[in-house]
Amino acid sequence: MSQNEFLLPATKAWLERPKKLLIGNRWVDSVSGATLPVTDPATLETLCMVQLASSADVDLAVSAARRALDGVWGETTPAERGRLLWRLADLIDEHADVLRQLESLDVGKPVMETYVFDLPLTSDHFRYFAGWATKITGQSIPSSLPGEALCYTRHEPVGVVAAIVPWNFPLAIAAWKLAPALACGNAVILKPSEITPLTALYLGELILEAGFPSGAVGILPGLGAVAGAALVEHAGVDKVSFTGSTRVGREIMQKAGGNFKRVTLELGGKSPNIILPDADISDAIGGAMTAMFFNQGEACVAGSRLYVPKALKADVLSELSTRAAGIVQGASLDPATQMGPLVSQVQLERVLGFIERGVSAGAQLVTGGSRNFGAGNGYFVQPTIFAASDDLELSREEIFGPVLTVLTYEDIDDLVARANDSVYGLGAGIWTSDVKTGIRLAHRLKAGTVWVNGWGMLEASMPWGGYKQSGIGREMGSYALQHYTEVKSVWVNLL
Ligand code: NAD
Repeated sequence: MSQNEFLLPATKAWLERPKKLLIGNRWVDSVSGATLPVTDPATLETLCMVQLASSADVDLAVSAARRALDGVWGETTPAERGRLLWRLADLIDEHADVLRQLESLDVGKPVMETYVFDLPLTSDHFRYFAGWATKITGQSIPSSLPGEALCYTRHEPVGVVAAIVPWNFPLAIAAWKLAPALACGNAVILKPSEITPLTALYLGELILEAGFPSGAVGILPGLGAVAGAALVEHAGVDKVSFTGSTRVGREIMQKAGGNFKRVTLELGGKSPNIILPDADISDAIGGAMTAMFFNQGEACVAGSRLYVPKALKADVLSELSTRAAGIVQGASLDPATQMGPLVSQVQLERVLGFIERGVSAGAQLVTGGSRNFGAGNGYFVQPTIFAASDDLELSREEIFGPVLTVLTYEDIDDLVARANDSVYGLGAGIWTSDVKTGIRLAHRLKAGTVWVNGWGMLEASMPWGGYKQSGIGREMGSYALQHYTEVKSVWVNLL
């Protein structure tokens, strides 16, 4: 089975073209000549071959970025940086049909989700930070020392930024890093995941078309252990902005410490979603389904721990399983598809392993639990729901697949303690008809984002990031800017 019937001619033509590295505004062959196939996880067909960057390519890209900072890009005015970012946003919108198909094919996500999430979030990011380019200001600070001095601060670019992104929202997360970094005047080397490099490469073409000067952006598809590690350890890289697993984040934190690189990390999660007794149950269950099964559950902020009042357990489980059984799984480009395949064989085995161990540990499998060959020969897993206790692996570890754990509670203080009892702290949800109760509870949860009567809303203007082992720093909004600038204090003696 192939997805050819859905492919636009422009998508097909692009897939047939060579996939190289973008260094110094030129598409170049990798020094090692290594390549990797890119697979459609719905059909297991090879979509194309992509060249892989080696550490020698990283050296070249870092040199190009440094020359950009010392040359034309470094001299580009804030207003011109803003215009370039805005132009890029327009180009993304113009090319959205192809970008949507590439993202959907590569990740396995339903193409319909790319209409509401991936593409709008991407171009909005570039527009939002286009506006910031001219507003990155320091302060004038009165001095109390004897004499007279003019004291002010400048927010200068950090320098060469390595942006390392995962496979679940490849284009949107690339935008979360590129847009603020470029608005602040940094040069960026983007390393997409080796599993999903396509939209980053397409974005590279749009970056050239937008007119960014040579070296402002480099794009290096490559293996994490090779290109990713080389960027993290490179003495010419000033900052690493990483989104991915907590395991790799920890490793990056240690390695980047060698030359005290600036590091921001957006990592994993095991987010609690809480239905309070007074909630509109139908809305809450709809929200719980989206929170868990959006993007096949391959979302850092998946609402994978659903807390329900003990008295409502039977009703909630019954309604959840009816809705889960109704989810249409299939080829990602089919507009009827509501849930696609997992991204890879590795991820498939990982998720099925969690399910098997959950059953063995005594959790109650309410629905799903198996690979779904009915949806195709790709990496499809049924939407799966367990009723379990907090101590099981299912309730504690990030599964990163469509596996929901339902937990019950009777007492609110106990609920808060249990919701917060996690090494993670990325997101949380609260469903209630009393907004005051919702707000009070939101303030007690240790999470970077809390949604009351909703789940998953993200916007370029609202900060995003995690407490605890879910990360360090914030992306999005004005908060992101502080991570892409160094503050310089300037003293001018006026006597
Ligand atoms: P991953 O950590 O395996 O890989 C992420 C990126 O890091 C990839 O580009 C990979 O090639 C690279 N990488 C791997 N090893 C490296 C190394 N040693 N040095 C440098 N780079 C290396 O994660 P993944 O499997 O691609 O993505 C899933 C994870 O990402 C999940 O844990 C998820 O929660 C997390 N995530 C977090 C957010 C967030 O905003 N907090 C968003 C999306 C995904």
